[in-house]
Amino acid sequence: MEGAVYPGPELADPMRLWHRPRGSPGKLMAEINEESVRELRRLIGAAQRVVVFTGAGISTESGIPDYRGPNGVWKTQTPIDFKDFVGSESVRRKSWRGRFTGPNVMAGAEPNAGHLAVARLVELGKVTHIITQNVDGLHQKSGVLDEQVIELHGNASYATCLSCARRYEFKALRDVFLPDETVPYCDDCGGIIKTATISFGQAMPAAEVERAEQATLACDLFIVLGSSLVVYPAAAFPRVAKQSGARLVIVNNQPTDIDPFCDLTISDDIGPTLSAILD
Ligand SMILES: [Zn+2]
Repeated sequence: MEGAVYPGPELADPMRLWHRPRGSPGKLMAEINEESVRELRRLIGAAQRVVVFTGAGISTESGIPDYRGPNGVWKTQTPIDFKDFVGSESVRRKSWRGRFTGPNVMAGAEPNAGHLAVARLVELGKVTHIITQNVDGLHQKSGVLDEQVIELHGNASYATCLSCARRYEFKALRDVFLPDETVPYCDDCGGIIKTATISFGQAMPAAEVERAEQATLACDLFIVLGSSLVVYPAAAFPRVAKQSGARLVIVNNQPTDIDPFCDLTISDDIGPTLSAILD
């Protein structure tokens, strides 16, 4: 059935959408621009096939830092380049050591009001696909099925073999690595195992990009949530949507280059804004 999701436990309580997550810097409902909310609600109501495109801004309300933002992780840490990871066992060892012994900003992160509102729009059959730049898996954790989430930059909650694509869970890899820092290799083919994210210097996942293009071409409303749209191919999707006749909305706390092409831009927090449209 199109648009079907299994409702996560959070969705059993619709009032949950109204609750601000712990520690969220978000605004109270009363502070959200009512006119923008009315217009977004009208656009969603008039649409048949909505695509939601999410960036780091939707997950900051869950406590996950924006890697590329002004205070982002990449300002103080150097990411490991894909070719270095593949080319050197000592780089792989360093990478696994960081993962298993360093701080993990995504551990314990829960979907916030923004994710839950998007999940509700999927459940209602409005949203056909979520295209995301995020690797935190929070859309799936909010109850959206894997096949409706298109992850352009992969997923940081598990690992895969780079040769045969077999999936590995971190717990098993941790058990291999921690005793004496043995770098894990694939049990099936001996291939290199890597966190299932797309690293700097690694090719974009062709199948995911293709699915994202198809979904974008088929939508009649494209909503960007929390992305500054500076990284390609991310930046191309809203233009493709607009050029193929869809309406375009951006909810982001900073202006983007695409703003002039939008039917509506909202500079407000995502969770409270989306929660308000479901009122
Ligand atoms: Zn393998």
